[in-house]
Formats: sequence, C-alpha cells, structure tokens
Amino acid sequence: VFKGTLADSPAKLLACLQLNGRIDKELGRLYSYAAMKSDQDTRRSQYQGMKQMLQQLVTDYNSKASFVAPEITSMDRAKIDAAIAQEPGLKIYRMYLDDILRTKAHRLSTGEEKILAQSGLLAAAPVSIYSILSNAELPFAEITLSDGTTARLDQAAYGKYRAVPNRADRKAVFDAFFGTFDKFEQTYGAQLSAQVNKDMFYTRARNYESSLHRALDANNIPVEVYHTLIKNVNNNLDSFHRYLKLKQRMLGVEQLEYFDVYAPVVEDVELEYTYEQAVELVAEALKPLGEDYVGLVKRSADERWTDVYPNPGKRSGAYCNGSCYDVHPYMLLNYNGRYNDVSTLAHELGHAMHSYYSNKAQPYATADYATFVAEVASTLNEALLIHKMLDTIDDDDVRLSLLMNYLDGVKGTVFRQTQFAEFELAIHETAESGKPLTGDVLTQLYGDVLKRYYGHEEGVCHVDDLYCVEWA
Ligand SMILES: [Zn+2]
Repeated sequence: VFKGTLADSPAKLLACLQLNGRIDKELGRLYSYAAMKSDQDTRRSQYQGMKQMLQQLVTDYNSKASFVAPEITSMDRAKIDAAIAQEPGLKIYRMYLDDILRTKAHRLSTGEEKILAQSGLLAAAPVSIYSILSNAELPFAEITLSDGTTARLDQAAYGKYRAVPNRADRKAVFDAFFGTFDKFEQTYGAQLSAQVNKDMFYTRARNYESSLHRALDANNIPVEVYHTLIKNVNNNLDSFHRYLKLKQRMLGVEQLEYFDVYAPVVEDVELEYTYEQAVELVAEALKPLGEDYVGLVKRSADERWTDVYPNPGKRSGAYCNGSCYDVHPYMLLNYNGRYNDVSTLAHELGHAMHSYYSNKAQPYATADYATFVAEVASTLNEALLIHKMLDTIDDDDVRLSLLMNYLDGVKGTVFRQTQFAEFELAIHETAESGKPLTGDVLTQLYGDVLKRYYGHEEGVCHVDDLYCVEWA
C-alpha cells in the first residue's frame, strides 16, 4: 500500500509508520509468548515450533517492510524536518527517523535491504542451537557431595553448589560442570564461530569498519567509549586483586583457586529466604522510590508476572521481558532462596518497573530503551537492597557476608562484564583478521583474558586450564 509513496506527503509517511508500529508491537507480543513459553521448558518442541513460525513471520514482515528505510533516506533532513513541522503526529517518530538518517551511509538499496531482511531467519540459528543444547540436551554430570547429596550439575545447580562451604565439593562441582562443556568444546566453538560470522556478515554488508563499530552505532555510541572502558578497568585490576586477596584471607586458604570465588567467606551464615519473604524484603528496601513503585512491586508478585523457581529444562539465569507493551513486563528467575537470588529479584524488578513506567508514559514508538542505560534501574535496586539489609542487621558475621556479596556484585557488574566485553572484542577481531575460531582457539583467547583479570600469573588466583572453557 505504502511502497514508493513515503516521500509523497507527511500524512502518508505518518500512516505508514503508525501501521508499521502496530504490526511491530503485535509481533513483539506474539514472539514474547512463544519465547517465554519455550524458556519455561526448552525441551518442549511445541513452543520451539511456535518460535520458529514467529521467526519466519517476523522475517517475512521485515522483508516486506524493507522499503521503509531506503525511502526515508532518499529524503534529506530538511524534507523530514518540514514533514514533522507540518504533521505533528510525526513528532513521536523523530528519534526513529533521525536514527535512519544518521546511519544513512550504512543503509542499502531496497533490493539489498530485502535480501538482508530475509537473512534474519538464518541469523537466528546459532543462538537457538546453543540454547537447546545447553538447556535441554547437554548430558550434565551427576555428582555426590561430601554430605551425601547427589546433584545433576546443570546451570541452575552449578549456580547453587559452586557456593558450598566444603572446598573439595566446590572443586568437584567445577570439575564436573566445566568437564561437561569441555566434552563439547568444538561443538560450542562451531556455534560461537557461526554467531561471530553472522556479525561479520552484517558488518561487511552494511559497510562498517568493524563489528564493534556496527554494534555501537545502533545506540550512537563512539567506539572510544568501549576502548576506554577496557583500558581503565585494566588499569585498575589492582583493586580487583585486592578483593580477591581479601577473599583468600577470609577463606583462610593458602592459594585462592578459581573454584573458591563463589565460596561463602563467613562460616555458618546461611541466609535463606522464601520467595514470599524476598518480595517483602525487596518491597521494604525500595520504599525510597515511593508508594506507587512499591505497590507495583507487590502487584507484580500478586499477579504472578514472574516464573520463579528452577525446573528441569528451564532456561538458566534471569531476565525481564518488557516488550509486551499492552500487557505488563514478565520476569524469569531461577530462585534458589539465597541472598543473591533476593538481589537478583530486586535487579529484575528494576528492569520491570523501568519497562512498566516507560510503557505507561511513552507511546510505543519511544517506549523502548537501550541496553546501555537499562542497568541503571536494576543496579540502583540492588544498592537499595544492601543498604536496607545493612541498616537492619546487627550481627557482624551476617553483615560481613552481605558486604562481601555486595563486593561480588561490583565484581560482576564492573570487572566481569568488562572481561566478557574484552573477550567478545578479541573473538570478533580474530575472525575479522581472517583467523579461525575453533573451540580450542576460543578457550585459549578466553583463558588469556580470564587469567589476566584474576591475576593468575601473579599468584592472586589460580585458574585451572579446564575452567577456561567457561566461554561455552
Ligand atoms: Zn540487568
């Protein structure tokens, strides 16, 4: 209907963008349903199939709508500005239009855009293969701990048992968990290499200097920001090593090992919370954000916006999905009852409230937010939670354990994320310079970064070669 007419009149442009937005919104909702159902139990093929159908539908639609960007770039900025002035309805699309104009040099012809849009279906393959193998089919090892507990070491169990007090158990947990991944090192290598090749394909097709340039350009962030982050974190690895040495001292071990880093530093502090207690605690801690906010936190629990507990086949980790614009945000947790899980709940609620308020206050066209700013809302909530805990708890051991947990959080958000960023940069640069990315190359690259961060050479924390398969 609209093809070839967008430059005709501001009214035509507006009508097209509105329809595009409506379809995009509904597709997002449908896809969320399929993807989240599938995450609840990745072994069920019914929802895998639904996801595939949606991927096909989205690809088809993107291919049909691929004329929009080229027609917009064919108008110059003056013409777009005039259109917005003439048609006030276009105002909410300014950001969208500006982004298309800003990235004009990387936009292709209508025919080329159509081919690129159709490649979306192929591009989704590495991630779906990875997810099914890791969450549903990987033959995780069973181990027996010193107290007689047997555990099948999948991702959720690894998250739980890597923090057991008994040192030999922790080593056994690490050996078994990474041993499983090590057996599939080359398969994982092929998957990650496929993912990097996908990035490289779009980078070259869109005439970007590197995958880093392309990835950051989506949010209009200069590459210097990325390099500066890595440089400054490397310049301050001493502080990270101080934290590791503190951990070593508190654990009372001669040599800190990589399998020690999740160990409890204070003996006999076993903080356990039911999910209901966790919601109460988090709601209490978030009081400074106002009654409305706290009410919403409670509502999210009452209305069951969250899939709470780990289950066989369930996707690992935690996330918040705020893309069902007309409904409410959804969350997925793997709640194990530890303080860390309470903190994760606070974190995901930060994303959920961010999405909720953004969706409520903004039209669909501007409601979404960039990953680059997303963690502000979530980490603030984590900080409010620890403040609340330290305010109300007097017991020294518990306080120590909480403070260490907070430092663990800083490790996670500052050092570990940058460590991952450095690894990602390294693998993309390796592939872009024409070198292979096999499983063992990936383990080598990851091991180099990991050992540097943990001060392996300086004797701060010893990292066993087996654990360098952690990238998988
Ligand atoms: Zn987050």
